[in-house]
Amino acid sequence: MSERIAAESYGFTRDQYRLYVAIHELGHAVAGISEGYDYRKVTVRLDGGHSRTRGSAYPSWWGKKERIPQLVSLHGGFIANEIYLKRNGLWDPRRKELAQGNARSDYSAADNLKPSRRETEDAIFKARRHLERHWTVIDYAAPELAKKGQMSFRQLRSVPGW
Ligand SMILES: [Zn+2]
Repeated sequence: MSERIAAESYGFTRDQYRLYVAIHELGHAVAGISEGYDYRKVTVRLDGGHSRTRGSAYPSWWGKKERIPQLVSLHGGFIANEIYLKRNGLWDPRRKELAQGNARSDYSAADNLKPSRRETEDAIFKARRHLERHWTVIDYAAPELAKKGQMSFRQLRSVPGW
């Protein structure tokens, strides 16, 4: 889906959509960092600029010990979007479905970890708690990420609100 079509389906301008994707990626990063995952090698990135906005906030390699932090991080993207939409009075069934669609690859990556139902519920609970606690970090970092397209761990860690 092109960025323009994606933005239109949400009823967003392209700039608003870019901010929204930045929030999704920061949700992954903040949830993972809060779980103690070592994100030093991670760069939060938005690719494509005008034609597409896609992001990545995953380390290239996860160890076995990071299975639960990874699960929490994977759920952080959708939850960040949910919190953002709800706080701004933008949450509705259509946008919920779109946000879930945006998280499809996150959910399939989570499935690959073969979590129990209990582990999934715990991961969702933890991700939501981390993001609510550190929402000022996301609020502060998202416009900067949307503008620059990239943010290193060090830059993210230097944002106030941790
Ligand atoms: Zn995601």
